[in-house]
Amino acid sequence: MEAPRALAIFEELKRNLKRPELPSIFKDPFQVLVITIISQNTNDRNTLRAYQRLEARGLITPKAILEADLKELQEALKIAGLYRNKAKKLKELATILLEAHGGDLWNILRLPLEDAREQLLKLPGVGLKTADVLLLFCAGKPVIPVDTHVNRTAKRLGLADYKADYEEVRRSLQNLYPPEHYLDVHLLLISLGRTYCKAGRPLCDECPLRNLCPTANAMKKS
Ligand code: SF4
Repeated sequence: MEAPRALAIFEELKRNLKRPELPSIFKDPFQVLVITIISQNTNDRNTLRAYQRLEARGLITPKAILEADLKELQEALKIAGLYRNKAKKLKELATILLEAHGGDLWNILRLPLEDAREQLLKLPGVGLKTADVLLLFCAGKPVIPVDTHVNRTAKRLGLADYKADYEEVRRSLQNLYPPEHYLDVHLLLISLGRTYCKAGRPLCDECPLRNLCPTANAMKKS
């Protein structure tokens, strides 16, 4: 992938797509993690409702979760499904944070990037994408999280190899763009994936990137 084309793609993305706003929740990394754990195998609506139920009970800090009665925690999470498992994960997360990190996720996020990533990945409920979201959105570290939209659009645009795994897509994007553009690249590719480059049927004829995209209309031809 040649750098001039990557740059041209970035310019077209900026010109044609609205960058999604970052929700205010990202000011508090622990709350991001709580929501991530709740959201597993449930929809956004029930995730939000379960989170609000925890919030109403004051159960959104590591200390409060650790001290909470397990049944109360489960009750608040019930609406999001898998509530026993999620309550257990939240308890484990709170325990590790309090025992190893002073109860404060910022003690991890302030570490150098690779150390912070390594520590985050040891926490229950934290995979590569969640770790990178926390590092970029909360701590402003130079990393590009690869969610389902970023993965799909990067591959269709030829910004990453079609067979690349999470780490390969991330490194490929990071090599193509300067760190000060990582947040914009991440958010604009999400916007592209939601608006035009949809999973099932991409809207290539309407897509502003069609003249730069090696797979434009490929699904029609196949
Ligand atoms: S032209 Fe089609 S495949 Fe390429 S980015 Fe746009 S919607 Fe996706």
